[in-house]
Amino acid sequence: MKGWAAVSDFDGTITLRDVGDHLLLHYGFADRKTIEESYSLKVRVEDFMKRAFAGAALSEAVIADFVRSKVRTRPGFREFILFCERSKVPFEIASGGVDLYADPFFRKHGVKVKSFFGKAKVVKGGIRITYPFLRSTTLSAFKASRVARFKRAGRRVVFFGDGPNDLKAASLADKVYAAGRLLKLCRERGVPASRLTDFKKAASFITRNA
Ligand SMILES: [Mg+2]
Repeated sequence: MKGWAAVSDFDGTITLRDVGDHLLLHYGFADRKTIEESYSLKVRVEDFMKRAFAGAALSEAVIADFVRSKVRTRPGFREFILFCERSKVPFEIASGGVDLYADPFFRKHGVKVKSFFGKAKVVKGGIRITYPFLRSTTLSAFKASRVARFKRAGRRVVFFGDGPNDLKAASLADKVYAAGRLLKLCRERGVPASRLTDFKKAASFITRNA
């Protein structure tokens, strides 16, 4: 046994609210109904993001300022990153979110984490999003593949998530911390999951089960 690895979603998991949704709602580029519909298991988050941001006329500076002033981080996140570094637990983030808001977020916390985010480019009248790491797969399958990859390498995997598109990854993980819609889905489908409140709990879980 080579020990643990950790894979995490970003929006609504590392942050307390989905940053993409929060931005779209705050600046009036989407309404609550549209956002709610994007959480159907049938909707691909990556397709929703591309569509929703195509008409979102926001500059890099506005987004960076929004991240600094409005985005709240789940307790224990920074400590967990430092714990993983100290304990040699590989940690990575697989996200349908975008670099435009992730980069200022990690700068604010002064941490560097291996991560997969969409690439966002400010263009005339909106933001163009691509997901180079997805190629022909879906985001949901990609997240699951990151968990599977660590398992093949002989590690146990703790997974953190909050959305329907985290369900596949959660069902492959050895330990799941879930919030929001994912927690509900796990309960409905018999996938064992603990409620994600504070990342510190995951650090003590890994230490206890090393
Ligand atoms: Mg999420």
